[in-house]
Amino acid sequence: MEPSAKRSRPGRLEGKVILVSAAAQGIGRSTALAFAEEGALVHATDINTAKLEEMNGMPGIFTHKLDVCSTEEVNKLVESLDRVDVLFNCAGYVANGTLLDCTEADWDRSFNINVKSMYRTCTAVISKMLKQDQSESGVRGSIINMASVASSIKGAPNRCAYGATKAAVIGLTKAIAADFVEKGIRCNSVCPGTIHTPSLEDRMRAQGDFEKAYAAFVARQKIGRLGKPEEVAALCVYLASDESAFVTGQEMVIDGGWSV
Ligand code: NAD
Repeated sequence: MEPSAKRSRPGRLEGKVILVSAAAQGIGRSTALAFAEEGALVHATDINTAKLEEMNGMPGIFTHKLDVCSTEEVNKLVESLDRVDVLFNCAGYVANGTLLDCTEADWDRSFNINVKSMYRTCTAVISKMLKQDQSESGVRGSIINMASVASSIKGAPNRCAYGATKAAVIGLTKAIAADFVEKGIRCNSVCPGTIHTPSLEDRMRAQGDFEKAYAAFVARQKIGRLGKPEEVAALCVYLASDESAFVTGQEMVIDGGWSV
């Protein structure tokens, strides 16, 4: 959904400044557009500058190249922003395989992109949020961390390093929520099932038989289909808005019944 210039009702995120990582495609892109559609000013970031540039000129969207594995780049970008009301940490990497397939390089890369990135962005952004005024609902800031159902919620075959990182994201989220709840900073994680995104397409093609891989991914969701990026985006809009002002430290599962 492209952000429209005119809206028939006030946006649920009017006046909020939002920083999104991995916004060039998939869930990050859909969510950045949904935030803008609800009236937020969105700083959409990614390492894929070619794809990111497609978003230039869309209402409410500002694009920046940001590698979440670079502390220097994260600090520089956050310092350049006047304020950050919402941080959506979406960047993630899927290493395929069991524990015995997982090299130390896979393990370290997975933790760097999926978890240490959040240490970097949350450290920079929370320091900024603490200096900001609280809203009428007592909120100074909201952080949304991308986890997965393949985590501490459910073991998924061939997702050893990935599942370990996403469990760490859930733990990090709860720690941040506990430490900053009295300062008006909320922190929640989002735990999707299988969502139809470009990288999932790549993973299905890489298996050789696309139709078989697609059917296997669909079968995991008891609802009988893959999730849509827009469905995850709608949950993120709720978590970003003050409608969720009483929600913190939670893992929000959106998985078509995979974990039921
Ligand atoms: P995707 O894989 O289609 O896109 C990922 C984006 O991340 C790309 O635009 C890429 O350029 C960017 N990126 C990669 N490394 C980066 C870095 N170092 N710094 C900044 N950006 C970087 O995305 P997706 O499938 O929508 O997944 C997004 C997030 O959702 C990930 O954290 C993923 O683990 C999580 N997730 C996805 C699914 C799914 O089924 N697609 C399910 C559960 C959780």
